[in-house]
Amino acid sequence: MKVLVAEDNPVTRRLLQRSLERWDYEVVVASDGTEARQILFSSDAPKLAILDWIMPGIDGVEICRDLRQRDCASYIYTLLLTSKATREDLLKGLAAGADDYLVKPIDPLELQARLRSGQRILALQDQLIAARESMREQATRDPLTGVWNRREALDVLQREFHRARRLHAPLVVVMLDLDHFKRINDTRGHQAGDAVLTEVARRLLTVMRPYDSLGRYGGEEFMVIAPGCDAQSGLELAERLRESVAAAPVSLLCDSLAVTLSLGVASLADDADPESLIHRADQALYSAKNAGRNRYALA
Ligand code: GH3
Ligand code: MG
Ligand code: MG
Ligand code: MG
Repeated sequence: MKVLVAEDNPVTRRLLQRSLERWDYEVVVASDGTEARQILFSSDAPKLAILDWIMPGIDGVEICRDLRQRDCASYIYTLLLTSKATREDLLKGLAAGADDYLVKPIDPLELQARLRSGQRILALQDQLIAARESMREQATRDPLTGVWNRREALDVLQREFHRARRLHAPLVVVMLDLDHFKRINDTRGHQAGDAVLTEVARRLLTVMRPYDSLGRYGGEEFMVIAPGCDAQSGLELAERLRESVAAAPVSLLCDSLAVTLSLGVASLADDADPESLIHRADQALYSAKNAGRNRYALA
């Protein structure tokens, strides 16, 4: 684990560094507050910092205050070092955002114990972040295909709709529906149907730009949201999407299967809300189905 030692006294700094290295920490040193602050605000900052209170430039308490004010995903655990030891000092240090406090002269065993408790807190924080990420993933992703689920796709559309309105920028929504999908389930089984859905989503993603979004809107229906895309580019996108699925049969366990889909394209016009855009794309999709499937239509 990487630790910052910020201490202006060279003897104390050297001593701390040696002890920490003996305990297998990777040590980064700073000899004044300005340097310490720079290190802690860099992209690969140590998550554990031992900060001397009184240093030239910025003092340790001020660095703590700066760290706590900044909006940052990863927490830096701070341990203040000081020869000040009055109760008021202690309260001031903690109020500024220090996590712990050690009075000089430093007792190495106490320092080691306090670093360990800091590491425990940091480990807990990592677990919390991982749990939050996994919950976010579960709440926004379709578990079968890995693309956005319906709710997230609608959230994306809502955001893009208002952004496009504000910037007078174009926006395209494409609704996609697999052709005769019920037959695949009926003749090959539900598992084969699932495999087709997964492969279709994978192929659709390969022909989309990175800033376009793909969501699973319903059972065998997908939605593509393409910001900055006008009607003409929307049709080109729809053709790429269609082609990506129709071009080659989908491999199943023992054989393969030709799969096609139909698409409805709607380009932002005087729509009052995102639902109107979806509705128009849906109507275009309906026309594409009626016109024979494996094709797109523009609203
Ligand atoms: P069309 O060309 O008119 O769209 O015909 P279709 O058969 O695709 O349309 P229909 O709406 O009749 O059938 C959709 C089918 O999709 C019915 C349902 O069983 C199937 N389905 C919905 N969700 C899933 C899923 O998660 N997995 C599988 N395997 N099938 C699904
Ligand atoms: Mg000092
Ligand atoms: Mg359908
Ligand atoms: Mg269908």
